[in-house]
Amino acid sequence: MAGRPRKVPPVPVPSGQKFCFKCMTAKPVDAFALDLATWDQRRTICRSCDDARYRAYYARRRWQQTKARLEATFTAPAAPCIPRSTPKTTGEPRPVQ
Ligand SMILES: [Zn+2]
Repeated sequence: MAGRPRKVPPVPVPSGQKFCFKCMTAKPVDAFALDLATWDQRRTICRSCDDARYRAYYARRRWQQTKARLEATFTAPAAPCIPRSTPKTTGEPRPVQ
């Protein structure tokens, strides 16, 4: 299985360290979470960048769920909100001015 070509860090990275392409710094390998799908079994971005990414993702997801719930609340009980199709009249002719 040929993946994408590996990115090369723009700065020399000492052995035992890995370059994070998100915060653009070299960090110890331990700062990168395990990911068995990658060539070195480490994530390409460091844990703190990963944390920020997941926080943003879950915050967005939470907001979408909240929004969906609110929209459901406001659209579901539609019956009492539907305006009358015909305006209410008294049956008497309107006075001519
Ligand atoms: Zn980082």
